[in-house]
Amino acid sequence: MIIVLRPHSSQSAIDEVIAEVSKLGYEPAPIHGATQTVIAAIGDERTHQNLESLSAFPQVESVLRVQKRYKLTSRESRPNDTIVDVDGVKIGGGHFALMAGPCSVESEEQLLSTARAVKAAGATILRGGAYKPRTSPYEFQGLGKEGLRLLELAKRETGLKIVTEVLSERDVERVAATADILQIGARNAQNYQLLIECAKSGKAILLKRGMSERIEEWLLAAEYILAHGNPNVLLCERGIRTFETYTRNTLDLAAVAIAKKESHLPVIVDPSQGCGRSDLVIALCRGAVAVDADGLIIEVHPNPAEAMSDGQQQVDFAAFEELVASIQPFVAATGRKM
Ligand code: PEP
Ligand code: MN
Repeated sequence: MIIVLRPHSSQSAIDEVIAEVSKLGYEPAPIHGATQTVIAAIGDERTHQNLESLSAFPQVESVLRVQKRYKLTSRESRPNDTIVDVDGVKIGGGHFALMAGPCSVESEEQLLSTARAVKAAGATILRGGAYKPRTSPYEFQGLGKEGLRLLELAKRETGLKIVTEVLSERDVERVAATADILQIGARNAQNYQLLIECAKSGKAILLKRGMSERIEEWLLAAEYILAHGNPNVLLCERGIRTFETYTRNTLDLAAVAIAKKESHLPVIVDPSQGCGRSDLVIALCRGAVAVDADGLIIEVHPNPAEAMSDGQQQVDFAAFEELVASIQPFVAATGRKM
C-alpha cells in the first residue's frame, strides 16, 4: 500500500507512521519529496491487515491500495481460463453453455414440455426456480420441495443438468441434492454466510451479480466461494439497476468483458433478467456472445402470457429455437463449441 503524508509533515509525525506500518507487518520504504513524503508499505495486502485505518492519523493525506483485493478469483493467480465441469458438461475455456428453462417451476407439464423443447433446441442445462425470491410477499413464491421433485423428474427424463436457486442457508442441503449448479440470486449476491454454505456443498455455483453491486464486490463474492475451497464458480451478469425505464435492468456487457479480463472464471449472461423484455432477448444474446461470454441462461416458457413469474421476459419455444439458430454463427466466430 502507499501512504501519502500531508505536505510539510514533521519528521516525528513521519516516524510515527513508519513505526505503525512496521507494527502492522509491512516493510516501510519512505520516499521524501521536497514538501511531501510518501511511504510504500511492502507486503501482501491480502494477507496483512488493511492499512486504511492509517487515514485516522492527522498527518496522513491518503492511503492507496496497490494489489487487487481478490486473489484466487484474479487472472493473475491463474492466467488460463477455468473450465467448470458440471458432471460432463464443460463451461468456459472455449466451451459455451446454453442454460434455459422457465423462471419458476410451475407444474409437471410446464417443466417437462419446456425441458424437452430446450433440449431439442440445443440446451444442456435446465433452469427453473423452485424457491423464488419475489419482491412482494403476496406473489408466487415457488413450489419449494415439489418444484425440486419436478426438476429431478426432468433431469431423469432428459439428462439435462439442473441449475436452480437456493435462497437460504437452511435449504442448501436439500437444493444441492437435486441441483447440479446452485444459483445464488441477485438479492443474495452478498449474503456471505449463504455463499460459504453453498461453497461447502461442493456443487458448482452460478453467482449472479447483485443489482447494485460493483464489479469488484462481485469478484470478492466469488472469492468467498473460492476461499472456502470450491473452485467451480460461474459469474453471471444479469443487469444492474439504473435510471432507465425502457428496460427492467441495464444489462452491463462491459462488466462481462471486464470480468473476463480480471478473472479466469467463466462468465454467463442472463439477458432475461438483464432487460426484462422478451423482444430484446435475442439481440442481447448475440451481444453477450460477441463480448466473449461463456454461456447464456435464458427464461423459456410454453406460454409466457400465463407464467406465474416474469412472463414479460420469457420467450416461447419457437422464439428459443430461433434464438439458438441466431447465436450459433456468433459462437462459432468467437471460436467456441456449443
Ligand atoms: C431468476 O433467475 O429468475 C432470478 C430471480 O434472477 P435474479 O436473482 O438475477 O433476479
Ligand atoms: Mn426470473
